[in-house]
Amino acid sequence: MRLLLLEDDMTVAQGIVEGLARSGMGVDHLESAEPAEGAIALTNYDLVMVDLGLPGMDGLEFIRRIRLRNIALPVLILTARDGLEDRVRGLDIGADDYLLKPFLLPELQARIRALIRRSSATTASEVTFGPLCFNLGLRTATLLKCHLDITMREWEVLQHLILSAPNVTTKQKLADSLSSWDNEISTNAVEIYISRLRGKLQDSGVLIRTVRGIGYRLELI
Ligand code: CA
Repeated sequence: MRLLLLEDDMTVAQGIVEGLARSGMGVDHLESAEPAEGAIALTNYDLVMVDLGLPGMDGLEFIRRIRLRNIALPVLILTARDGLEDRVRGLDIGADDYLLKPFLLPELQARIRALIRRSSATTASEVTFGPLCFNLGLRTATLLKCHLDITMREWEVLQHLILSAPNVTTKQKLADSLSSWDNEISTNAVEIYISRLRGKLQDSGVLIRTVRGIGYRLELI
């Protein structure tokens, strides 16, 4: 997953970036909303976290502007404001959920997973694809009912493929989802993760098909 964080409090931002990186999520951080519209246009984010009180354009205005442009990106408000009015306005203009500061990392992670599941049009925390079963909440996978031993990055790649199936996921989308500005992952690295996953999925009935020039698709044989 690749996320964008708009937060002007550096301590809070650092905690979020480092905490989410430990669970394999790439987070790009901006201290103000003005450059965020450009960032969204250039990168395939899975979700954006928005602090409401930002210098310059505030979080509410940013959300209003991206929704006016019909950008369907999931938006999670992170706010210290306890005013009900701001939260209601945020949801009314198109945010998907909010979290009041201070919050604990596991709650933030759970909200992110819930919003991404919703935007992937699946509500179950368990997603199955033939003999492959993914628990999005626990971040575990089983294959033919046995624990599948995969790294965090392999998990990310396979999660994208399973949530997109039967559609093709582009190589660039996979690279973007594993990257952050501080840690750019190339499409060559994606090929390596795909190759390792193929080894682990061998003879299971699940196949990662290469769609030439486009990307990969998960298939049952
Ligand atoms: Ca703030």
